This record gives sequence, structure tokens and C-alpha cells, in this order.
Amino acid sequence: MLDKELNIRTVGDMIGYYPYKYIDRSKFYRISEINGNMPYIQIIGQILSFESIGEGKGSRLVAHFSDGTGVIDLVWFQGVKYITKTYSTRTFYVVFGKPQVFKGRINVAHPEIEKADISSLGDNIQYQNYQQEIFTDVEHADISVSTSSANKAKSSFRPAYNTTDRMKKRGLNSNAIAKLMENVFKMMTEPLKETLPNFILNRYNFISYDQAVRNIHFPESPEMLRKAQARLKFEELFYVQMNILKYTKERSRKIHGIEMPLVGEPFNEFYYKHLPFKLTNAQMRVIREVREDIKSGVQMNRLLQGDVGSGKTLVALMCMLIAIGNKYQTCIMAPTEILAEQHLQTIRKFLGDMNVRAELLTGSVKGKKRKTILDDLINGKINILIGTHAVIEDKVVFDKLGLVVIDEQHRFGVAQRAKLWMKNDTAPHVLVMTATPIPRTLAMTLYGDLDVSVIDEMPPGRKPIQTIHLFDAHRKSLYLRVQHEIDLGRQVYFVYPLIQESEKIDLKNLEEGYDNICKAFPLCKVSKVHGKMKPAEKDAEMQRFARGETQILVSTTVIEVGVNVPNASVMVIENAERFGLSQLHQLRGRVGRGADQSYCILVTKYQLANETKKRIQIMVDSNDGFEIAEQDLKLRGPGDLEGTQQSGMAFDLKIANLAKDGIILQMARQAAQEIVDNDIDQQNPNFAIVWKHLKEIRKSQINWGAIS
Ligand code: ADP
Ligand code: MG
Repeated sequence: MLDKELNIRTVGDMIGYYPYKYIDRSKFYRISEINGNMPYIQIIGQILSFESIGEGKGSRLVAHFSDGTGVIDLVWFQGVKYITKTYSTRTFYVVFGKPQVFKGRINVAHPEIEKADISSLGDNIQYQNYQQEIFTDVEHADISVSTSSANKAKSSFRPAYNTTDRMKKRGLNSNAIAKLMENVFKMMTEPLKETLPNFILNRYNFISYDQAVRNIHFPESPEMLRKAQARLKFEELFYVQMNILKYTKERSRKIHGIEMPLVGEPFNEFYYKHLPFKLTNAQMRVIREVREDIKSGVQMNRLLQGDVGSGKTLVALMCMLIAIGNKYQTCIMAPTEILAEQHLQTIRKFLGDMNVRAELLTGSVKGKKRKTILDDLINGKINILIGTHAVIEDKVVFDKLGLVVIDEQHRFGVAQRAKLWMKNDTAPHVLVMTATPIPRTLAMTLYGDLDVSVIDEMPPGRKPIQTIHLFDAHRKSLYLRVQHEIDLGRQVYFVYPLIQESEKIDLKNLEEGYDNICKAFPLCKVSKVHGKMKPAEKDAEMQRFARGETQILVSTTVIEVGVNVPNASVMVIENAERFGLSQLHQLRGRVGRGADQSYCILVTKYQLANETKKRIQIMVDSNDGFEIAEQDLKLRGPGDLEGTQQSGMAFDLKIANLAKDGIILQMARQAAQEIVDNDIDQQNPNFAIVWKHLKEIRKSQINWGAIS
């Protein structure tokens, strides 16, 4: 059962199954304050009387239990005889269980019940304000509200373990696991082997592995629980970092890159004659970072983060010009055909009459045209190839590919990235661009193998987008605002959510919305685009909007990535409550690309969950993608963060939490870096324990390497 449901096979697996929270058994509720919504309650009092109710199947035993503030019913459907024999009236008991409402009365069925040790509790019974939980989340190490009894020999914290429905049916609930766990620890005669080297234990004043594991299950005291948590979180993050850094180090030693010593003529020509504006400081810094990388002789793997509109494309182009100046070809991969086409247009416009040839290769480039491009590519006549996944097909052969730019990283899988490596004898340099800003702590863990550059500065002269929250019911004022913008000659997006499971309803929403909008704006031309349309149709309709032939574009999230229509000044997001923060921010980035004041209008229903309210407020308050990503991480936890799903590894964390344990992560990163820097050859006996343990983890956990 443990194996099937929880993957627990060995004693090691078992003791590695940490509680997800602790129940403080020294705290009690007053019966008068109990309601049916509480997950669990603990009360102290006496049984006033027993009562047998009903006959046959529905028969049950009820104990009327009171603490002086009220009476609650304890109910048993089985084992009635045992109960009446074991428990008596006028004795103090501690009762623990889940309250529920039955026919208007609150009862607790099959509670845990044990005799109260009044002598130890004395006058010290701590009643809990009913709004407070009696649980201590593992995440929140702050459990300083301990009672006097909690500091006695045995702590009052009991572990709570996650179990599945199937397990519960067989009686394998949290308590049963706790008992098993207790037995496992009793069976172990020797202390558990240490997994961290002495210098780390000393530096951070950590308790031993053995102590930590025992205390994470059965805390001796709140203090010890805190120490156990700190040590185990550190350890977990430390070994994740060891893996990443070891890999990075080995790669940087092994993978020889293409040397590009020159800045080159094309770059200079562009910089002095064609560059239409001054680069921002951030753009210059990133170009310098790339330049340092590619002249060094080590293969570059760099992640370029920059908010929507921060000018990544230009940076990419200038890096490509350096590669071209060193007589190499370059390519840029975009996630969609539309984006690839836009890149082509943008890049050709930037290049003007320069002697640099950029071509497009997507799935829809066919026949003779395709053949010409493929031929010219292999003959080295094309300097920049722009395309979609099509460019990594085997048939696409370069003469000398030196630099690959990947736009919107999260839509390219690891496997596709790997395929690029095969295009050359020497792996090309890789620059990955993403507009989904990833908080630094996360980037460190996720992309440990990539160096990270950040454009944290917007080109001058942009007016910040104004974000407004409107309820559905205020559609009239929404339409007025939209009409006003259209009268000024601007264009408007209306975006509807499209989430796979409810695709049909969503499409219906979109169609209805479209009809309403057509009615509300009878003088406007309205485009409609959604994922169910054929790519060619979709493209044609988008182009119509981009050319200004239609004033309103009603769509699902297909426009999310990168489309550039500077004349569009309003982004209306319908059912905004259904979008995640990063997605909202991405969508908002579609406007504010011209010089005009732009607006993002978030339309939601009236009743919103608290978390949703927070999300919407963050959007209204902030235009900063990094801040939003940081908040997103806090609200949702890293597992849900867009673009991180494919990593498949960093988020199997058992105890550490990337959103909350940033400091511990930094400590772990630093310690791991020291070891990797000083002892990559695994010679130093002080570090032996680390290398050995790392190997053991690698063996037992699949997919560590997938992060690359
Ligand atoms: P991103 O790809 O990062 O979202 P883009 O590269 O599309 O952003 O740039 C957004 C717009 O800003 C483009 O129209 C681009 O030409 C312009 N731009 C880029 N860099 C600068 C700059 N330094 N000064 C002014 N405008 C710039
Ligand atoms: Mg872009």
C-alpha cells in the first residue's frame, strides 16, 4: 500500500516522508466557539452522559461532552461496547477530531480520546482563539507560541502526514503513519549517517542529520523543529545546487566553443550608421556580456531576461552581427510563424541597405522558395535565418552556424535545444530570450546551467500603461472608453481565456463576446482569432488587424506572445480572474508600444476569491514584470509558475520552498559553489561525504540531468 500510493519502499523512503504540518496538542478550543468548518479541533472536558440512538444500521452511541462553555456530541457507530467500558463520565478527557454538522448540531465522529493529564496542564490550559489554527504549517518555522507544557520532555507537536483516499479507507491515515514512523525509529539502533561535511555543519551551526530527521517527525521542542527544518531545507537545496554547479563546471571545461575574437565590420557599420536610437545602458551591458562570452572560446549558454518591450530583439540582432562579422551564420527561432515573420520584418528594417541577408524559414515556406533558401544556407549566402521549429529539422543544414537565438524560451523543450547541438561539429553559442521574467532565486535553481543577463531598463519615452479593474456589470463605461480610443484612431484588443478543459464553453464565450462587440460598435470592423482556426486563416486575420484594416481584435490568448501593433492602445481582458499573473502581464505588454497613453482593462465578475483580488490589485499597482513574477511566485508557489513545468526537477522539493527560502537557497548555493570551485576533481577528503552522497542521490532520483 505504501509502495503503491506513496512510492515508499525502503526505510530510507519512509523516514524521508516528512509531515506536512504539525498539530499542537497543547492547545484547545472552547466548545462554544466550534463550527463545522474547522478542519480539526482539540477540546478538553468531561462526558456528561452517554446515549444510544437508533437501531440496526443507523444505530450509534453519543457522548454528550462539555467543557463548561457548551456541549458537543461525540459519536460512535462501531465499537460501542469498548467505548462505554473504557470511558466514564466525570473524568477529564482530551478529545481530538473533525467537527461536522448533522441535523443542525455539531458532532465529532470517532474522535481520538485520551485521559487528560490535569496535573501537567494545571491552570495552564491554553485556549485558542477560534480564528487561529491549531496547526503549524511546515513552511512557517515560526512556532514560538509554544506553551509551558510544550517544553517538557515530550513536545506537544504531533506530525500530520499526507495520505491518499485509498489509504484512509484501509485505515492507513496520518496517525497510522505516525505510529509506523515511531516504530521505524525504534528499530534503528544506530544513528543515521551524516550527509553534510563538518565544515558546513559548523559554519551554520546545523544539527546532525540523525537529529534533524528524528525531529522533523517528532519534534522534541519547537526549537528543535526549527533547527531540523533549517538543516533539511539547506541540505535539499544544497544538493540541487551541487548537481547544477557540478554539471556547469564540467560543461564549461569540456565544451569548446567557437572563438569569435572580432567585433567586426557589420556590427560597427550598424552601430554607427543604422542604429535608429541610443541603446539603453542595460542593452549595452548585455551586448558586452555576450561579447565577452563568445570571444572566450567557451560555448555560450546565456539566458536573456527582459520585460516585454525592453528591446531584446535589437540586442539579439547586434549579437548576431558580431557573429556575422566573425564569418559565422546565425539563426533566430521564434515560437510561432507570426512572430518569426515579425522578426524578419523588424530585422530587415533595422538592417536597411546593409549587406547582410536575412531569410525566413517556416512551415509555410514551400516549393522552390524553400529549396533556394536551403541551398543558399548551405552555401553560406544567408547570414541570418529566421524561423520556427522548422529550422531545427535535419534537412536544414548551415555552412557555419555560430550563434542561435531562441525567442520565448519556455515554448522550446529541452530536447529541441539539444538538437541544435547536432548542427555543427562545434556547438554554436546560444542566447535564449524570455519575456517571462523569472525571479532570481528561481532562475538560479532552474537555469543553473545558463548564465543570466537582465535588461532591467525600458527604452526612454514610454508612457506606463494604465491598468484599470472593472466589473462585468460596468460594461457600458468600458465600451465608452473603448469608443473614445477608437475615435482617436487607435485599435483595441479584447481577449478571452481559453483553457483546455472548458474549451467549448470558452469558445462560446468568445463567440458571444464577438457578437456583443459587433453590436456595440456598429461602425467598426472587428477581427476574430482563436486557436481552432487554421493557421493561415488566423495569420490573415491578424495581419488585417496589424495593417489597421480592422479596429478591434477579439481573440483568445493566441496573441499572447510578441505580436507588435504599435497603434493598439487598449487591451481588454475578459474574465481576467481566470488568468495567472504572468499571463496577464504578457497580455498587457501587447499595448503601450507606441507613444500614446495605453490602457489595460481587466474585466472580472463581482464575486472574487481573496487571492484573485490580490492578483488583480498587483496588476493595477505594478508595471514591473519582475515584481509581478516575484509576487506570482509568492501567491502560487513555483510549481505553477509559467514556463517552469518542463524543468521536471527543481520542484520536487520535499521541504524547501523556493518562494520562501531564498536566504537558505543563497547559503546553499554559496557552499556548493565553494566545493565545486575547489574540488571538482573530488580529491579533498573534507568534501568526500558530499561527492559520495551526491552520487547516491543521483542513483535514486531520475532526471537530475534533465535540467540541462
Ligand atoms: P522585446 O522583444 O524585449 O519585447 P522589442 O525588441 O520588441 O522588445 O522592442 C520593443 C520596441 O522598442 C521596438 O519597437 C524597438 O524598436 C524599440 N526599442 C528597442 N530598443 C530601443 C532603444 N534603446 N530606444 C528606443 N526604442 C527602442
Ligand atoms: Mg520580442
